[in-house]
Amino acid sequence: MRTRLNIGFILIALTLPLFSSSTSARLNCQTNAQGLAPAHIPAPQEILGFVPGDDRKLASWSQVIHYFEELDKASDRVKFETLGNSTMGQPFVMATISAPENLARLDEYKKIQELLADPRKLGLPGVRDRKAAELIKQGKTIVLITCGIHSTEVGSYLSSMLIAHRLASSNEPEIQNILRNTIVLLVPTLNPDGVDIVKNWYDKTLGTPYEGTDPPELYHKYTGHDNNRDWYAFTQVETQITVDKIHNVWHPQIVHDIHQQGGYGARLFLPPYLPPVEPNVPKQIVAGYTELGNYMAREMRAAGFTGLTTNSTYDAWTPARAYSHYHGGVRILSETASCKIATPIAVKFAELKKDEGYDPKKESATYGPLWHGGEWHLRDITNYMTSAAFLLLRHASDNRSDWLSRFYDIGKEAVRPRTKGELYAFVIPEAPHSGTLLGILELGGVEVDRPGPFIANKHRYAQGDAVVRLAQPYGGFAKSLLETQTYPNLRDSSGHPIQPYDVTAHTLSLLMGVPAEPVYARFGLPRQTPMPGVGENGGCGDGVPPVRAIYRSHVPAIDEGWTRWVLAHPSSFKCLYYSTLDDTTLRAGNLRARFDAVIIPDQSADSILKGYAAGEMPPDYTGGMGAAGVKALREFVEQGGTLVCLNRASSFAIEQFKLPVRDVVAKVSEKEFFVPGSILRIELDTSHPIARGMPKESIAWVEDSPVFEVIGDNRGPASEMSEANVRVIARYPTEKNPLLSGWLLGENRIKGKAALVEITMGKGRIILFGFRPQYRGQSLATYPLFFNAVLPSH
Ligand SMILES: [Zn+2]
Repeated sequence: MRTRLNIGFILIALTLPLFSSSTSARLNCQTNAQGLAPAHIPAPQEILGFVPGDDRKLASWSQVIHYFEELDKASDRVKFETLGNSTMGQPFVMATISAPENLARLDEYKKIQELLADPRKLGLPGVRDRKAAELIKQGKTIVLITCGIHSTEVGSYLSSMLIAHRLASSNEPEIQNILRNTIVLLVPTLNPDGVDIVKNWYDKTLGTPYEGTDPPELYHKYTGHDNNRDWYAFTQVETQITVDKIHNVWHPQIVHDIHQQGGYGARLFLPPYLPPVEPNVPKQIVAGYTELGNYMAREMRAAGFTGLTTNSTYDAWTPARAYSHYHGGVRILSETASCKIATPIAVKFAELKKDEGYDPKKESATYGPLWHGGEWHLRDITNYMTSAAFLLLRHASDNRSDWLSRFYDIGKEAVRPRTKGELYAFVIPEAPHSGTLLGILELGGVEVDRPGPFIANKHRYAQGDAVVRLAQPYGGFAKSLLETQTYPNLRDSSGHPIQPYDVTAHTLSLLMGVPAEPVYARFGLPRQTPMPGVGENGGCGDGVPPVRAIYRSHVPAIDEGWTRWVLAHPSSFKCLYYSTLDDTTLRAGNLRARFDAVIIPDQSADSILKGYAAGEMPPDYTGGMGAAGVKALREFVEQGGTLVCLNRASSFAIEQFKLPVRDVVAKVSEKEFFVPGSILRIELDTSHPIARGMPKESIAWVEDSPVFEVIGDNRGPASEMSEANVRVIARYPTEKNPLLSGWLLGENRIKGKAALVEITMGKGRIILFGFRPQYRGQSLATYPLFFNAVLPSH
């Protein structure tokens, strides 16, 4: 921000934290509700000893909490509370900020939100619009601001204190309007544990050659960056708290989710999003994020900010990142360019890199004005973030009744009775995991009926079979998880498939192996009966020695975290004990004395073998498994151990142990074969113990996955083993298209090929999964394959 000349009113106001010493904080006093002497509203630096955004300074989680507690004590505009505990036991907190008279009536505003979200509660259709109009006059725009889900993106949790301080202390007319017209729900971080994981590593490496590197562990105990892929499966406690205690209580019209992206692209991304938009996202949501995102970008440009992009990089395909899109609220993602944690970087204009939809070296409809490069500090990040947040709040305040009307329209369309020929409901017959699936839907606000025996689709359903009707506020959310996805065949000008932002499928019913049958005709249902929620997961007791180990690289692998989570929370399995195997222990060998099974989660072969290069990280964290690790694993298997390789780790085993299988898609171009995270069909050999008890046909989550072909003695390259050592347990169908949900190009290349094989080596065996059987804690359908593979013997 050092070069900006065009400083308008907004900017002066918005960069206030820059100048906000304790002196200016004292000028911003207010009179408290009792009319007593003006309370002193503490500025963040009075608690932290530095201004959030200062170079090389991070706040600990306890400091952040302390700051908000002091703000709550001093200001009648702030209500601060703990909503629950994080995975590692830290307080998960939220500040509610609004005018004092609004804070005194929060229950009334919650009630207004509840009624507008579900117009059925307003009475018969004829009177709803009139009643809604009254409520829209009275209601406030509810704005949820979420920070810090990705803990290395430190700007947002630091900005949360700047935002809260200005809202609590300023008497500018603009801030008064915001306080009067909106209720701000501010979550300083969605991942409390990660704040200290990142701060501890940053402080430990400060002043060393490794200053500014990412920590060599996941910043969320189980999910790392995937904590922002959990917004429809709700596996993690942080997601559950946010959904249950914030979204479902307040139904915010606007969710501002503050992130950071790489340091070498645009300085800031704002919506609208790139296509494709998931078909169940209401058109009013698309209109809302388009209007608001464009407004923020326009105002920021007018205030002199550069390097802004809209309509690029980030899509709106999935409920995994956007709970609010299916619950009446727009998600305004912002992605500010990063520095190295809190350490400044210098970026040359020539170093700027293109991304999907824009080129930061050229002005265009999706990018501009040019950012010419230079130093990039944490202060730049907090300035972009706080400025964007206050523009968002200004729009929410100035357009209060439009936001509420739009919100009501979404609810009205959602509960509209379905007419003949329209999809009416899904029937979920009672089945293994159907309770889990229905519990998830209910946590997502979906009403589930269990009408007793009934007839639909000319079929008689039994007591216990469930019905999910679409004409309800969050019917679209249910529909997105119960139907299959057809991802559009998007190509660039050279015919190359355009990589989706994340994955292409989210059919939870398929992932969990629960049938979901569409019903097109209306049928009578008695009143709904409450359903039990997601079952309690059993925890492991103490005192039983682990018989299986999960390999854990110093290059954090998200699938490693998910693997630990699944073993600690195994749906309908007894708790499975495990220990973690790092490179040092692995290289030392003698594994068979301690373990029956070793699991290598999904990670690239190169990363497993070599890890961080020397000089990239402190020496204790470099070098990977190396030749010594490979030798130890070979001995382990030859002595009777089971090595289980998940997805890309299978390629590691094929290469290192010269296994008699090859990956038929390894060298195929994306134009010919592409499956960027989809649900495919597999056929199982149920006579094999690993597939025992499974249906003949199941699913596989396929993403950067190898596809296996067995190499015979007389066909393939020199191998120490023959075809006789290999048993195929799952393969893709020969006749049918393997695609069930998502996107698959080049299906003929994999028809009839193997997806899961067992290879004997010495006294032991290696099991290669060509898919992720425990994908993000969702694919319950294929958990049995994984658990059977890691059990001590069969
Ligand atoms: Zn992020």
